[in-house]
Amino acid sequence: MPYNAPEGTADMLPAVARLWRSTTETAAKLFAAYGYEPIDTPIFEMTEVFTRGIGEATDVVGKEMFTVRSGENYKRALAAGSDEGLKSKQKLSLRPEGTAGVVRAVVQHNLVEQGAAPAKLFYAGPMFRAERPQKGRLRQFHQIGVECLGATEPTADAEMIIMLMRFYETMGVPRQNMRLLINSMGDDACRPAYRESVRQFILDHEDEMCEECHRRAETNPLRAFDCKNETCSRVMEAAPKITDNLCDDCRTHYEAVKALLDAAGISYIEDPTLVRGLDYYTRTVFEAQVTEGMGSQSAIGGGGRYDKLAESVGGRPTPGLGFALGFERMVLALEAAGALGESTKRVDGYVACVDDSVRAAAFDLVCAARDAGLCVEMDHQGKSLKSQFKMADKVNARVVIVLGPDELSQGKARIRNMRSHAEKLVDIAAAKRLLSQFGGQRVGGASSPINIDTVFSLENDDKE
Ligand code: AMP
Repeated sequence: MPYNAPEGTADMLPAVARLWRSTTETAAKLFAAYGYEPIDTPIFEMTEVFTRGIGEATDVVGKEMFTVRSGENYKRALAAGSDEGLKSKQKLSLRPEGTAGVVRAVVQHNLVEQGAAPAKLFYAGPMFRAERPQKGRLRQFHQIGVECLGATEPTADAEMIIMLMRFYETMGVPRQNMRLLINSMGDDACRPAYRESVRQFILDHEDEMCEECHRRAETNPLRAFDCKNETCSRVMEAAPKITDNLCDDCRTHYEAVKALLDAAGISYIEDPTLVRGLDYYTRTVFEAQVTEGMGSQSAIGGGGRYDKLAESVGGRPTPGLGFALGFERMVLALEAAGALGESTKRVDGYVACVDDSVRAAAFDLVCAARDAGLCVEMDHQGKSLKSQFKMADKVNARVVIVLGPDELSQGKARIRNMRSHAEKLVDIAAAKRLLSQFGGQRVGGASSPINIDTVFSLENDDKE
């Protein structure tokens, strides 16, 4: 029986895989303008990195982590009937998000030295959450994220939010289909008292609220703002709001972030119930949502400040902030807006053979063109000339170079410009001489220093 990919996962077939690669390249280029450098951390970490960093009471850690045991440790735990006997370093989990691992790496390698500039890092890769799969909610999904460690000023918060919105703009998600929510979660000075007041509010309204919210009152009261139960959300509308309970420092910081966004022309909605799922946020939090066609999975990216996270994974106090955006949801947003461009394969040239006698010469020309960095293809299935033209069309070849025994005996090939349909005879030796000047480039595609038009003197063909 053929197998399917595991539930909640999706194969990235070439069109999507191409989009994932081009999206990460776009992100890398854009983020570089803001001073960000790439980082890649392991896909699994010691479980403690997540329990300490993200918080045991969060859904992501409490309910959705994929735990990993290496072969022998798995058997040992199975035989003992529990994980108790395992050492911390033997308890591993697949990363449910990227921040905790990056901050762990920053602490481990001391990337934020005292007095030095902030560490600005970005990553792209798969994340794993054992959620109930549905459209836009996967068990393995892909995030692009940034982390900035060592920055205290509100300009850092504003810069990060602007960068996220610029990214969506660059990718073509229409601004009118999006809304940006912002809030401040307070800090150690004001949040504990606020948390307590929300806990008290839930207890006062216990009769009207769901079981889960009763539990949240004790573990993570602010999460009650995110409860999907309609009655709970109605009750929570009357709950105390963090923005009415911020300390002076947090209020000043929040006002400054908003003023910077106003000055930059970034529109936003203040949402005092935006708490986001993870425990580590302090002060600024934000979320980009799509208003059209995404159902309940409208959050396409978000993040915030996490000034206490470095300490919770064993580092010295280091302010930080970051965001993560979901690739799959961005694709859905582009689809919903009708803005998902056709991602087609495109090659420079297709070398077609009239018959088998020219196959070796065709292969030789293909090799020379590829060595010069051009993207060319030829037939490997013994197809007829007509079928080879069809193939060339299918891969969007700009030109087809037809090698036939008659032309070849005179050192020539017939070139057809697939756009203008103009044909001309070209000298193979001259083309190969030009190609050999660029031999060894092997850079490929758009970054090649030559193009197929130059090699076969086709520059003015489109105008004919
Ligand atoms: P979070 O780490 O929960 O703040 O999520 C950041 C972004 O990742 C969200 O805005 C989504 O775009 C995306 N995301 C989170 N969870 C999932 C999931 N289970 N499936 C697909 N995308 C997700």
